[in-house]
Amino acid sequence: MTKIGLEIHCQLTNLESKLFCSCKANYREFSPNSNICPICIGLPGSLPALNKKAVENATIISMALNCKTPEKIAFFRKNYFYPDLPKNFQITQYDAYGPTSIGHDGKITVEGKEIRIRRIQIEEDPGRLIYEGESEKTQITLVDYNRAGTPLVEIVTEPDFENPKQVRVFLNILVDLLTNLSVSDPTLEGALRVDGNVSLEGGNKVEIKNVSSFHDLEKAIHFEITRQQSLVERGIEIISETRQWDDRRKITVSARTKEEESDYRYFLEGDIPWIKLSPEHFNKLKEKMPESISSKRDRYVNQYDIPGQVADILSSDKFFADLFEKSHDVLNAKEIANIITTDLMGFVDTREKREDLKLTSQHLTELANAIISNKLSRISAKIALQEIVNTGKPLSEIISEKDLGNVSDESEITEIIDKVINEESNAVKEIKEKPETVNFLVGQVMKKTSGKANPSTTLTILKKKLGLS
Ligand SMILES: [Zn+2]
Repeated sequence: MTKIGLEIHCQLTNLESKLFCSCKANYREFSPNSNICPICIGLPGSLPALNKKAVENATIISMALNCKTPEKIAFFRKNYFYPDLPKNFQITQYDAYGPTSIGHDGKITVEGKEIRIRRIQIEEDPGRLIYEGESEKTQITLVDYNRAGTPLVEIVTEPDFENPKQVRVFLNILVDLLTNLSVSDPTLEGALRVDGNVSLEGGNKVEIKNVSSFHDLEKAIHFEITRQQSLVERGIEIISETRQWDDRRKITVSARTKEEESDYRYFLEGDIPWIKLSPEHFNKLKEKMPESISSKRDRYVNQYDIPGQVADILSSDKFFADLFEKSHDVLNAKEIANIITTDLMGFVDTREKREDLKLTSQHLTELANAIISNKLSRISAKIALQEIVNTGKPLSEIISEKDLGNVSDESEITEIIDKVINEESNAVKEIKEKPETVNFLVGQVMKKTSGKANPSTTLTILKKKLGLS
């Protein structure tokens, strides 16, 4: 059997400052090496001061992933030399004296299968290495320490995944969960980085690093399973090692034999005391926790009669769920959910478009009410929605500019119905025998009015004319 586990590094992007100093956590807009101080570049004599908010946000993640949380947490030094690590050790968490990381023994259900979370730990991000030209041939490597010390949460799963597809579904659920908690924005470049490990039954474990997207991770795991199976078939032993994903050739290549934990010489970080987490700490955070995605979903179904599939899509996307919450009332909730999931999500499908969105909750309310009161057909509503997304103009202005309003004037509709009855004499005969086929004629009226005839008025007049009512 194939066993796959994950190590996920998630930046706490919604924090103001780094994990141990007051430099900005959002390092992305700085020119290289300008968002640094003696603490985050590890100058001798500098002392770390733990960011309380980082501990709070990590606790929230831990609780949302159903982890047990310890009464006391401790920080450790993980010693290794690499140019992106200015102190030559990383401050992280390690369970040397029992569980002292922010979470352990959690679980999350993926398509009916329980994936166990082994551990969640708080740690600092290293800096970034930038290679001039292709990384294999380059003579020059630049180092940017702006990212050094950014707060991270590492989530380690048990090797409970059986195939690459489960990994992808799990990561999608995790992204939605982290976004819903407002602790991290996984769509930011480098905010969520995932390493995988793969082993076949009883065999050594191989780690896969350096994968830049979820899509590539799925491919890398798939490749690694095939590679290991082929080795086993030929009787060759699988070496415990770290392999890099080669994006160009779409294969994994050996990077180094895997370090043992003892290679890191973990020891307690003496500059940060043990931190006691009181019951009040957890209670306060529980109160602040946003409604979970599954509870939102159930509420949408039970309270507003929104179909399960629509509620699934809407509740798992915080951006659109928030928009829904702001715009709906009991009467138009179903219609607004429908507008968002059928058309709006398609129109606004990138991060940039979300940031530039000119549509407000008021637009959505008005649009839904116009559909419900038959002032606007669904076809016209879609045209209006696209125009609102592009321009932000008020709905009434768009309706008159584009002449989208429904035709409700009875004499106008009667005129069109007379024309249709004339043209469709065969259909009229059929309707006298099978009254339910009257909808065909309603369709013809809609066609002639580009979908703008008020459907209920049309049906009433039609029935009257054909003696059906
Ligand atoms: Zn700093």
